[in-house]
Amino acid sequence: MPHFTDGLYDSQTVLITGGATGIGFAMARAFGLHGAQVVLASRNAERLSAAAGRLTALGIENDTVVCDVRDEAAVKAAVARTVSRFGTIDVLVNNAAANFWSPAETMSSRSFRTVVEIDLFGTFHTTRAVVPHMIEQRRGVILNVAITDPQRGLPSFAHAAAAKSGVLALTTTWAAEWGRYGIRVNALGPGPTVTENAVGGMAAGRPDHPPSFELQRRRTPLRRLATPEDSASAALFLCSDAAEFITGVNLPVDGGISLPTPSGDLNPDRAAATPRQHQETTKSE
Ligand code: NAP
Repeated sequence: MPHFTDGLYDSQTVLITGGATGIGFAMARAFGLHGAQVVLASRNAERLSAAAGRLTALGIENDTVVCDVRDEAAVKAAVARTVSRFGTIDVLVNNAAANFWSPAETMSSRSFRTVVEIDLFGTFHTTRAVVPHMIEQRRGVILNVAITDPQRGLPSFAHAAAAKSGVLALTTTWAAEWGRYGIRVNALGPGPTVTENAVGGMAAGRPDHPPSFELQRRRTPLRRLATPEDSASAALFLCSDAAEFITGVNLPVDGGISLPTPSGDLNPDRAAATPRQHQETTKSE
């Protein structure tokens, strides 16, 4: 990731929930390669240990803590351990989330509650535990990994739409409340990103609806899917001093797929056509 200077995050501590996999891990690696010490917090000890090994092999100082973000006491303990080891938390990335395909009319309240508790309450618990330290040090950055635009609706993911809408409401509310302490709060919305769990989540329980990543790619004006590194680059920018006057925003990192009038074309033949062929195609439609 050659876009930023190496020491951008020198001596800073970055806590990332769900940092052992997917987008969270790409962020951990990116912050670490730019000088930060990173702490990963999630539930699965084996995945944490594997991620820690990969970071250590890259020379990145790191720590891991097994923690379910739904458990407020466990989150407080994880934050206390981080502050005790590194003395501070400069950046908090609320990235932990769960998701699975479920039509709204058959979604159980248990499913709905589970996703809301992880995505929304988890973000609340972690931020609530970290913010007193940031207020005390009179600075800090919080980044919430959300979605681009829940107002458009997220069919078959009502639980995530509700939870991430709440996360975006917290983003603007916290930004307004904590700016006076020098704390910035932003969000970013990844476009469809091929991570192991995202593919599983989109496919699980829907034999008649195969994963729609190819359709998403064709609908994206920039004509590719997002990578975890796209979100990591955006995180490096938003959490750095280069963004010191930016707070309360939700930055789409999605190649334009959430634009009100997507220019993506569902017909790949037409997309590849020369201008003349394109004209003829348009006329004959
Ligand atoms: P992912 O690899 O599944 O990342 C989610 C992480 O959250 C996992 O490491 C998981 O680890 C952790 N987690 C889940 N439940 C947890 C809990 N109760 N407590 C603590 N940690 C928990 O998926 P991803 O695709 O990288 O997603 C990362 C973020 O991007 C999420 O916020 C997601 O909503 C957002 N996003 C993704 C896409 C996409 O297309 N991939 C699009 C829009 C937004 P454990 O299971 O070990 O706990």
